[in-house]
Amino acid sequence: MAKYELGETLFTTEEISVRVRELGREISRDYDGQEILLVGILKGAFVFLADLARCLTTPVRFDFISCSSYGSSTKTSGVIRFQKDLDTDISGRHVLIVEDIIDTGLTLSYLLRNLEARKPATLEICSLLNKKHVDGKIDLPIKYEGFAIVDVFVVGYGLDYDERYRNLPYIARLKK
Ligand code: 5GP
Repeated sequence: MAKYELGETLFTTEEISVRVRELGREISRDYDGQEILLVGILKGAFVFLADLARCLTTPVRFDFISCSSYGSSTKTSGVIRFQKDLDTDISGRHVLIVEDIIDTGLTLSYLLRNLEARKPATLEICSLLNKKHVDGKIDLPIKYEGFAIVDVFVVGYGLDYDERYRNLPYIARLKK
């Protein structure tokens, strides 16, 4: 197995915090006091979700879904595994999917189709990171995006490599 180590920092704790507060203000303004059901995609989104939620001034409920296309490698397997479904009936609710990173868009396009069928009042996406210039990327309606990044593998702030680095308070590149 290839050996990986932490590379350069892409986003510092301060940069992330500033951007998350901006997103929080934008979302609060858009929903204008309506209750939002925040749906975090486990596991990676848990840190972002916790910080974002505390920047929202609208009432919020939480639920989590676990759906992934990755094993312990740094490239997508192209196969979506659905490990945990929502606990909540989302019909008629304002659902905001909170994701850590969008790579090919495969995970979210699958999730969007799945959740749309449950008839939420609204369904939007908020992703902290979005990888641009990825081959075969699926075009998704991403309403809230933290940062656009190039196609490199990153860890920290909830993102892992083989379950490590999720607790880093910043986002760094993982290099061979
Ligand atoms: P997609 O289905 O969009 O190709 O992949 C999305 C999922 O792949 C993310 O939720 C995340 O779990 C994982 N992923 C994609 N790129 C990265 C990355 O650079 N670092 C980490 N740690 N996970 C990634």
